[in-house]
Amino acid sequence: LTHPLLIVGAGIAGLWTALKAAPQPVVLLTGAPLGEGSSTGWAQGGVAAALGPDDSAALHARDTVMAGAGLVDETAAMVLARPGPVKSARCMIWAPGLNARTDGGWALSREAAHSVARVARMKGDQAGAGILAALIEAVRAADHIEIREGWRAEALLPDLKAGCAGVLARDPDGKLAPIEAAHTVLATGSLGGLYAVTTTPWTSQGQALAMAAELGAVIRDPEFVQFHPTAIDIGRDPAPLATEALRGDGAVLVDRKGSSLHAGRA
Ligand SMILES: Cc1cc2nc3c(=O)[nH]c(=O)nc-3n(C[C@H](O)[C@H](O)[C@H](O)COP(=O)(O)OP(=O)(O)OC[C@H]3O[C@@H](n4cnc5c(N)ncnc54)[C@H](O)[C@@H]3O)c2cc1C
Repeated sequence: LTHPLLIVGAGIAGLWTALKAAPQPVVLLTGAPLGEGSSTGWAQGGVAAALGPDDSAALHARDTVMAGAGLVDETAAMVLARPGPVKSARCMIWAPGLNARTDGGWALSREAAHSVARVARMKGDQAGAGILAALIEAVRAADHIEIREGWRAEALLPDLKAGCAGVLARDPDGKLAPIEAAHTVLATGSLGGLYAVTTTPWTSQGQALAMAAELGAVIRDPEFVQFHPTAIDIGRDPAPLATEALRGDGAVLVDRKGSSLHAGRA
C-alpha cells in the first residue's frame, strides 16, 4: 500500500501540515507519544506577530533583518512577518482563554531584537504547551489523519524517480517496517540535542537531516541551531530556562561576573 502523504514528526510543523492537508489522507508518525519529545511543548515566550496598534508587518520584517546582522534572507523575513498575525490568531483561537486579558486585547511582551511589544503570550510562559495541546486535540479529531505513536523513522526508502518513496520505521514492538508514500514530509525538529548541553529535548538529534543527506539531499544552513540565551548553568542537560515571562517583562539578567544586561533588549 502506498499512502498519499506521510508526515514524520508531531511538533507544530508536523501537526499543522497534517491538518492543512485535509481532506487528503495522512499517515502521521511520531517516535515519542503525542505531546512528548518535541520542542513545541517547551516554547515559552509566545508567538511573534505584528498584532499591536503600533506595529506592522514591514516593521516586524525590518527588526528581523536587523537582528540577523547581515545573515537574514529579506524575502523570507517578509514572508515570516506577513501571515503571522492571522496564523497566530488562529492558533490562539484554538486554545480559547489562554491569551485572555481582562480588556479582551492581546497579552503582548517585548523581547530581544523587537522594537515594539509583539510576542503574544499565553498563561505567562505556556504558549508552546497551549498550542501543542490544541493542535493534538484537532489532529485526534480529524478523520483524514492516521496517527502512529511510538513509530520511529530510521531511514528513507529510495525511489529512482521521486527520490524518496517513504520511510523505514521501527514500530512500538521494535520491528522494522517499510511505510511507502507518494510524498514524505520530514518534520522532526532540531539537532540541539547533539550538543553537550542543550535547551531543546535531548532526543532532538537531527536524525531526519542525516536520513535525507544519506539519500542525497542537499542540507541547507545546518549551522543555525537554536540555543536559549537565558539557560541556567546548574549542571543539568537539557538546561532549564529563566522563564521567558521574566524576560518579556523586562527582567535584568546578571552573569557570574556581575555584568548585567536588559533581557528584553539583549
Ligand atoms: C525551551 C524552548 C523555548 C522556546 N521558545 C519559543 C518561543 O517563545 N517562541 C517561538 O516561536 N519558538 C520558541 N521555541 C522554538 C520552537 O519551540 C521550535 O522552533 C518549534 O517548536 C519546532 O517545531 P517542530 O515541529 O519543527 O519540532 P518539534 O516540536 O521538536 O517536533 C519534532 C517531532 O518529531 C518527532 N521525531 C523526531 N525524530 C523522529 C523520528 N526519527 N521518527 C519519528 N518521529 C520523530 C518528535 O517526537 C516530535 O514529535 C522554543 C524552543 C525551546 C526548546
